[in-house]
Amino acid sequence: MEKTLVLLKPDAIQRGLVGEIMGRFEKKGLKLVGLKMMRLDEAVLREHYAHIADKPFFPGVSKFMKSSPVVAMCWEGLGAVNAVRLITGITKAREADGGTIRGDFAMSVSCNVIHASDSIETASKEVPRFFNPDEIHEYYKSEFEHVYNDEELN
Ligand code: ADP
Repeated sequence: MEKTLVLLKPDAIQRGLVGEIMGRFEKKGLKLVGLKMMRLDEAVLREHYAHIADKPFFPGVSKFMKSSPVVAMCWEGLGAVNAVRLITGITKAREADGGTIRGDFAMSVSCNVIHASDSIETASKEVPRFFNPDEIHEYYKSEFEHVYNDEELN
């Protein structure tokens, strides 16, 4: 099954939204396979945000992302990358659909609470960027028998 990377940004930590956001992914039926709190440095941010590193707003994004620790999570499930992006909502949070995490909890284009991998290819690079192999936990989750049908599970 697919694995995807989620970062809860400094505004999520400061605003006490960690449990609420994690709960949404749990209730969706995704499987938590990696979890840690960490501080990001300039090097990892330049790599992670390479696609916006030359934008005028990048220094502000970098400062914000270093302003407090983040919570990194790896979630697993069938089509998990797309499912998590749908729950996340669009970048400009004040225009994100209600019911999405950004739509429900944020107003800003930069302080938008959460990062989520935007494609399977991106996820395959982002998960190892934030987690060592021994920090990804493979285990049986009995709930999957009720989350998926037999064909989806096998
Ligand atoms: P997403 O996080 O939705 O995949 P991007 O990859 O385009 O969006 O941008 C990465 C992050 O950079 C965004 O989540 C946001 O924190 C910040 N960002 C994007 N666009 C802007 C902008 N115009 N002004 C300020 N910050 C921005």
